[in-house]
Amino acid sequence: MNLIPVKTPKLIKGIFPSYTWDMPQDQKVIYLTFDDGPTPEITNWTLDLLRSYNAKATFFCIGNNIEKYPDIFNDLIKDGHAIGNHTYHHPKGWTTNSDVYVNQVIKTQDLIALGIQNTKLQITNHKSTIANLFRPPYGQITPKQGKRLLALGYKIIMWDILAFDWKNSISPEECEKNVILKAGNGSIIVFHDSVKAAPRMKFALTKTLEHFSRKGYQFKCIE
Ligand SMILES: [Zn+2]
Repeated sequence: MNLIPVKTPKLIKGIFPSYTWDMPQDQKVIYLTFDDGPTPEITNWTLDLLRSYNAKATFFCIGNNIEKYPDIFNDLIKDGHAIGNHTYHHPKGWTTNSDVYVNQVIKTQDLIALGIQNTKLQITNHKSTIANLFRPPYGQITPKQGKRLLALGYKIIMWDILAFDWKNSISPEECEKNVILKAGNGSIIVFHDSVKAAPRMKFALTKTLEHFSRKGYQFKCIE
């Protein structure tokens, strides 16, 4: 049995109301998110596909990967996607000291700000702003860590739907079904632009974009 559900139950969303689980549900808009990049090959493949559907998304980047792959990071910004913070080294919140945890977020936020600034220097009138969006790795965050980040002005972005694309025991078709059968207006969907998730993510993302575009949905950044 899988303890983590594909679709987050209302009960869980209600227990943690200061975190964001959905976006407004009055319009046909879906909010795709990608965690753990930037990743060579995978992130650029994702950008090409999103561009072909005129879709925008939110990329929760790992600080260490932004440092390693600044050009890919700049490509995210140039394409007009939103950037979120996913810590510097992807620690598990429940077993990480809160100072260490918060410092990883601040260090990554500095890298995001620097990257956005660099891109702005290359493109005049570029509109990217720093969004202060944070997603905890593994969804693990203690109340103390959450409180401190909220006090620093971060929005803590959780999810409505997990594609389970990282799980290599499921098929690409199951991953597709996780999303297509359960997502709807205002859903925040988690995919990963990582090497591990790629075989499932590439298939399921393509199907998701096809399916929801056909049904008249738009894909927007979290703001
Ligand atoms: Zn992650």
